[in-house]
Amino acid sequence: MNARTCEGLVLRVLPFGEADKLVTWYGAQTGRITAIAKSAQKSKKRFVNKLEPFSRLRFFCRPPRRSSSGLYFLEEAELLSAHLRIRQEYPRFLAATCLAELCLRFTRDLDPDPRLYTLLLWAVDAISSRDRPFRYLLFFHLKLLQLAGYKPDLIHCRRCRKPISGPACFAPDPQNADGALLLCGHCQPTPSAPLSLQALRMAAHVQESSLDSLHALQVPVHCLVAVLNLLHLYSQRLLQADLHAWPVLRAWLCGPEKPSRL
Ligand SMILES: [Zn+2]
Repeated sequence: MNARTCEGLVLRVLPFGEADKLVTWYGAQTGRITAIAKSAQKSKKRFVNKLEPFSRLRFFCRPPRRSSSGLYFLEEAELLSAHLRIRQEYPRFLAATCLAELCLRFTRDLDPDPRLYTLLLWAVDAISSRDRPFRYLLFFHLKLLQLAGYKPDLIHCRRCRKPISGPACFAPDPQNADGALLLCGHCQPTPSAPLSLQALRMAAHVQESSLDSLHALQVPVHCLVAVLNLLHLYSQRLLQADLHAWPVLRAWLCGPEKPSRL
């Protein structure tokens, strides 16, 4: 039984029993991993201000006693970056909560992808510190789908195969229960939630852009909400599960408190 040191970003913290906490993080070497932090609810010293969602930590943990199952034991943690503004500013918190849920849903335990860790850190750093944090949720979601092997084709109609040249929409795929098809205005003349060509082109541009170049990309509010909504529906079908954070964020984005700069 060897002690293990690894770095990662905390995605979820849950109370466990009377005194313990369950901490789930994503790390470059470990992928998604859940560990039990014994007495973390009571003992403030060992983990003070560390076991918080969106913190980047160095973890010191022991593997489970039985190799086939069970939880890791978290013995200590060292704070590398707290991403404090995410906990202090509600809009940043909403965006980061959506991102963490996506990361939890699209990953499996102990199945690391260093590219995903790079993307995750990049997006959480930006949501914590940059102007207009919601666009980083959109960038993250598009890039996450690519890394997971589910990159949506945002250029062509999936029925007539022609390049999209006007408003389009996503429709359930009759051949594949998990899929969704992008259809042009000719193939789906009365869509329930059409996407503008501008929104589709912006999203397709994000798919092909490097992370560094995305900081300069400004996203109009109507495109942001439309594409986030589309990605939510697309991922919900893929996962065959509800995503809970997006409806809360959408209600806030469309509500009276919406700031002029998103
Ligand atoms: Zn078509």
